[in-house]
Amino acid sequence: MSYMDEFFPVLSNIDGRNEFERLIYGDVGVVRIGRPVILRRLSNCHCACWDGVTGGPISYCSYCKGEGYEFTEETDMMFVTDGVTPMYKAGVFGGGQYPLDRWGQSDASKATAFCSYRLFLDYERYTFKTQKRYDKLLLLKVDGEGEQVFPQIVTEQFKIINVVPRFGEMGKVEFVELNMEKEDL
Ligand SMILES: [Zn+2]
Repeated sequence: MSYMDEFFPVLSNIDGRNEFERLIYGDVGVVRIGRPVILRRLSNCHCACWDGVTGGPISYCSYCKGEGYEFTEETDMMFVTDGVTPMYKAGVFGGGQYPLDRWGQSDASKATAFCSYRLFLDYERYTFKTQKRYDKLLLLKVDGEGEQVFPQIVTEQFKIINVVPRFGEMGKVEFVELNMEKEDL
């Protein structure tokens, strides 16, 4: 089989996952495009402040911060684009197009984030929608060099409406796209 066979092309030796992560996190000779974020993953377990009888969740609850579900938080790097996201209906995948953007319109309350496939190995939790409440993405303040400012300062908070795995060679997930809606802090 020739290398140029158009029906059965030889797999390239470029790993899409690898190349994507080099872009997000940076590498020798590659300036990173990722920015520091906090990924708040909500579990399906109610917080103690929500017992189903007395009402809740409690907005000032120090355990769940009013989410009503127990959650974990982790910091990571993601590429975040403001203004547009292919989100037509919550929980339903967009087509990867940004319809309004073609006419120069954007929506400041929407954003799209791109992250490593590693962060959502269980993406079917979102594609089948077995999660009870949306995860959150918190953007962290950076300085003029793009380095994170300490102590941590959250500048924006988004609700992650869709978790969309993007497939590449051999059908493997190369990266994950997050369609998001801004929340008031
Ligand atoms: Zn709580």
